[in-house]
Amino acid sequence: MKLQIFFSSKLAFFTSIFLLLSIPHAVSADRSNHTGFLQCLSLRLNDSNIVSKVIHTPNDSSFSSVLTSLIQNQRFSAPDTPKPVLILTPVQPSHVQSAVKCARRYGIHIRTRSGGHDYEGLSYVTHKPFVVIDLRNLRSIAIDVDNRSVWVQTGATIGELYYEIGRKNKTLAFPAGVCPTVGVGGHFSGGGYGTLLRKHGLAADHVTDARVVDARGRILGRREMGEDFFWAIRGGGGSSFCVVLSWKIGLIDVPSRLTVFNVTKFSEQSALKIIHRWQFVSDKVSDDLFVRVMLQRYKNMVRASFPGLYLGSVTNLLKLVNREFPELGLEKRDCKEMSWIESVVWFAELGEEPIDVLRKRTRASLSFKAKSDFVQEPMPEIAVSKIWRRLQEPEAEFAQLIFTPFGGKMSEISDYETPFPHRKGNVYEIQYLNYWRRGEEKEKCMRWVERVYDEMSGFVARSPRGAYINLRDLDLGMYVGVKRSKYEEGKSWGVKYFKNNFERLVRVKTSVDPFDFFCDEQSIPTLKSVQVM
Ligand SMILES: Cc1cc2nc3c(=O)[nH]c(=O)nc-3n(C[C@H](O)[C@H](O)[C@H](O)COP(=O)(O)OP(=O)(O)OC[C@H]3O[C@@H](n4cnc5c(N)ncnc54)[C@H](O)[C@@H]3O)c2cc1C
Repeated sequence: MKLQIFFSSKLAFFTSIFLLLSIPHAVSADRSNHTGFLQCLSLRLNDSNIVSKVIHTPNDSSFSSVLTSLIQNQRFSAPDTPKPVLILTPVQPSHVQSAVKCARRYGIHIRTRSGGHDYEGLSYVTHKPFVVIDLRNLRSIAIDVDNRSVWVQTGATIGELYYEIGRKNKTLAFPAGVCPTVGVGGHFSGGGYGTLLRKHGLAADHVTDARVVDARGRILGRREMGEDFFWAIRGGGGSSFCVVLSWKIGLIDVPSRLTVFNVTKFSEQSALKIIHRWQFVSDKVSDDLFVRVMLQRYKNMVRASFPGLYLGSVTNLLKLVNREFPELGLEKRDCKEMSWIESVVWFAELGEEPIDVLRKRTRASLSFKAKSDFVQEPMPEIAVSKIWRRLQEPEAEFAQLIFTPFGGKMSEISDYETPFPHRKGNVYEIQYLNYWRRGEEKEKCMRWVERVYDEMSGFVARSPRGAYINLRDLDLGMYVGVKRSKYEEGKSWGVKYFKNNFERLVRVKTSVDPFDFFCDEQSIPTLKSVQVM
């Protein structure tokens, strides 16, 4: 009887491998390598139940939903968007190790996906045959309130992290992004900022340890990987170096009650006056205050909003704003006191929902294109006026510009502390976004972003014109392999994202991944590398 069970389970296991191997020719450029990879992976997983649970090929009914459910930019879910030959959804860290080891052995290209928010879809799209390691099942969050620290696996979203912190304690928080569905994998490895940035800096500034799978398939912690490697993955983009399995982060203190507020203006004249003054105040005022500028259309009009967060009471906020920034015209009725975790829901524009809304994994329904800039000198009113005009154009129906103030903690941390170099001297960051619903609107909406970006060139940081890696922009360049070495190509956009930190990132890359196993269209090159993508 036992023998029969043994044979039937083995039979099921090898049948599942056989089915997995029958990937259609159309999606497999090098069938024998993929066959070898699959055999290697299936044998390493060594359990038919696990194999059928974690390996998804285009033959499986699960494939399409696994692929599309974490696509957060619909620009990359068109029928002609290249699809992976296989998606692995590991349930144990050892599955990631197996994938890396087998991929190296058979020359398979991999992409790592956590939350799927990459602006250019690089975690799940490329133009050569590839496999996606999708970390959605590795999402445990272990909070140690006494030591004010958390181990969070990289399949978790920042919303899930915030929820767990807020549920446990009302005066602890974490300074990361505003949108709850963003994954901690990509977000922390590129920097990560939100409403607490002026007081506490970036998410990456609070990472104290990490567990990664390196290019040799080894699991390494901070001590084993060394300080250079650990430095690189806190702002240099994880995808160039390893698969990050989990982060250890330090939590920060917040008051049990804080204040959120919003002021909106529809008149160009009053909005421009406030924005002009905002540029002189927002990065210098007390770092307890964070006020953003958001410009977008609302019912055929351009609307300027000034949403903000203050780490204190309404009374103290009004005193501060009346003294330092009276032009804002903030009134008591614009303000609301709440806990930090409630402010996360408020900032994410999730209405009056209870905090467990932060755990929802909603999928974005729109396509978009974005770009970023850093502003070091306040712009003249004429520049903002130009933006206002652009927002009235027909293709700007869903466009949005977001100005995020820096200063405070951001100016106290040196440009070299982490790979994120846009610290002291930056007044604010601009994000240009445009969204659309239908494919035929794509070109004109993308051109609109380019036009506004070009128009701003005289008013933003130059030499280099900076950009934020988490707001990835392939217009800055990508490897094409014509004439120049990969190092020279990569440098042209690398210095925009990382300034002088680019060279150190290249040295780390050369030492930890000399064969450039972890690579994508904009990854950090190895030193003097000549190979082409
Ligand atoms: C709607 C929306 C709102 C956003 N809001 C903010 C914000 O408030 N503040 C802010 O700073 N940014 C924000 N971002 C940008 C966001 O921080 C980046 O897009 C970030 O890289 C997304 O991480 P992810 O894991 O969700 O994305 P993914 O697409 O999964 O990954 C992004 C990149 O990181 C790599 N990567 C992912 N996981 C790992 C891992 N475990 N190991 C190694 N490499 C990995 C991927 O391969 C890819 O190159 C927002 C983006 C969107 C779409």
